[in-house]
Amino acid sequence: MSEKRDYYEVLGVASGAGPDEIKKAYRKLAVKYHPDKNPDSVDAEEKFKEASEAYEILSDDKKRGAYNQFGHAGVDGMSGFGAGGFQGEFNGGNFNDIFGDIFGDIFGGGQQRGRGHRRRHSGIPGEDLQQEIDITFLEAAKGVIKPASVWREVVCDTCNGTGSKSGKANSCNTCHGVGEVHYQQGFFTVARTCPDCNGEGIRISDPCSKCGGKGRNQKQSKIEVKVPAGIDSGQRLKITGEGNSGVRGGPAGNLYIQIHVRPHPLFDRDGDDILCDVPISFSQAVLGDSIEVPTVDGKVELKIPTGTQSHKTLRLKGKGFPRLGGYGNGNQLVRIIVETPTNLSSKEKDLLRELDQSYNEKSSTMTKGFMNKVKDLFG
Ligand SMILES: [Zn+2]
Ligand SMILES: [Zn+2]
Repeated sequence: MSEKRDYYEVLGVASGAGPDEIKKAYRKLAVKYHPDKNPDSVDAEEKFKEASEAYEILSDDKKRGAYNQFGHAGVDGMSGFGAGGFQGEFNGGNFNDIFGDIFGDIFGGGQQRGRGHRRRHSGIPGEDLQQEIDITFLEAAKGVIKPASVWREVVCDTCNGTGSKSGKANSCNTCHGVGEVHYQQGFFTVARTCPDCNGEGIRISDPCSKCGGKGRNQKQSKIEVKVPAGIDSGQRLKITGEGNSGVRGGPAGNLYIQIHVRPHPLFDRDGDDILCDVPISFSQAVLGDSIEVPTVDGKVELKIPTGTQSHKTLRLKGKGFPRLGGYGNGNQLVRIIVETPTNLSSKEKDLLRELDQSYNEKSSTMTKGFMNKVKDLFG
């Protein structure tokens, strides 16, 4: 394999370029080299992959930092566009859907699917579909394969998608087979997709009885969605080709899976870290103890040091979420909550008063420091 080019050079930006400049540069290259626009050019596909990889790294602050510091070695394997080629990664949806954002801008929404200009008689691309799935907090942490059922348009099996009983089609009368109609607007002639044939240029004279000439029928498909560990609410997975089938030979659309992670009664999430509050008793805080703490891997032992203050955070290393597109895991941050005892009997209260008296004579450093500051303030 040849030497990898510098990512800034690939995008043609300076190393200090801001996010907007990087996005703009990538968009320009992506439009130029997009495989849909250069169906037969291996060179364009390579350039598209190269630019996409550079954008993926430079648009992410963490990855960009690693790249700036260590070069390609610092981000090796972080990109979905690496050695495996981008097709596989598209299917797995193993990284944030940067394309939804960028290509939504370029091509004006998911429906167009980036087919620059329509080729006549090659069918109409199928529409993209969107589906939301709910997963649990633990499933987000560990990854899961989720069954889903999707209503989608599939190729009619009676007419094989031709839409015609006999398999024959005539030219559309409105556009004469061109798929476009032209009309005058001021000084300009404007072309638009023929409304009678939807741009296909054909007319079905003997429509198939099952699909009524559309060439597609609604069908419920069962699919399995591979949700990668570390995913968060709001992220999208792209499943290539699982949208609606194309019309009369057109390419299928994609299915986008919007992830929604249900909240957990014990855990919260902060980036790759898991947050968890754990109550301990007053005496455990004073004397120290070893307690069991829940993690997404099951219970683990946690040592409470002698004299632990309330709201102190203890770290369980590597017990957080896997870093999507990176290495290792985040941590679990356990916030200790010291529970003040209530409903004490009068005998217990007496014991505490006794304790308080002997304790006050030694007075803790925090209290002393506080009292001194109060004295400074009010004299
Ligand atoms: Zn049919
Ligand atoms: Zn027409």
